[in-house]
Amino acid sequence: MRIIGLTGGIGSGKSEAAKEFAKLGVPVVDTDAIAHTLTRVGEPLLAEITHTFSQQFLNGDASLNRAALRAHVFEHPAERIKLESLLHPAIYAYAKAQLTLNQTQLNPSYQILVIPLLFEGNRYQSMLHTTLVIDCDETTQIKRTMARSHLTETEIKRIMQTQVSRETRLQLANEVIQNDGTVEELAEKISKFHKKLIKTCIVSE
Ligand code: ADP
Repeated sequence: MRIIGLTGGIGSGKSEAAKEFAKLGVPVVDTDAIAHTLTRVGEPLLAEITHTFSQQFLNGDASLNRAALRAHVFEHPAERIKLESLLHPAIYAYAKAQLTLNQTQLNPSYQILVIPLLFEGNRYQSMLHTTLVIDCDETTQIKRTMARSHLTETEIKRIMQTQVSRETRLQLANEVIQNDGTVEELAEKISKFHKKLIKTCIVSE
């Protein structure tokens, strides 16, 4: 099972890159999407979160008020550790099961695992064949994130401070794709990377 860990800072273009891989028929497992799935109404993990924290982080319809919980743990690091200790093992187990299922059902040359905070922890490294960083300069990162979300520049910068620096990320990466042009240019680079990877998979298998 060949797993490529796809990462990058906020707004760098991870989701856009993942979409391109999916278009090429590559199975994509996204740890952020898993976090959403596991905290939907009716999921045991949501009940655990509510039990550990409080009902104040639920919306009127019993769904998780993600923004409120995110803001709370941002201000209270000890609470963030508590939340992460609930979320991260569950996300990891789910991702592993999904990757195994994809492998069995689809037998792909490789799969993409999107892990926004790959280099901030060490849970996933050992299962990865290669790490791929999607990179752009910080001004572009902020501009794109502001256009996508309701976050202010200050809030985005604060989030960036909780992530490894661009320099560190680039040092740790096995492969880097620059996403400083158009979406079409990104698609072209992903397609090239895909072809290269397929070739090396064939050679070494
Ligand atoms: P991430 O998943 O890394 O946080 P996204 O893939 O969601 O980042 O990209 C952030 C925003 O920027 C999205 O609205 C996306 O459509 C847009 N975007 C990504 N790459 C480009 C690009 N090359 N040109 C223009 N917009 C882009």
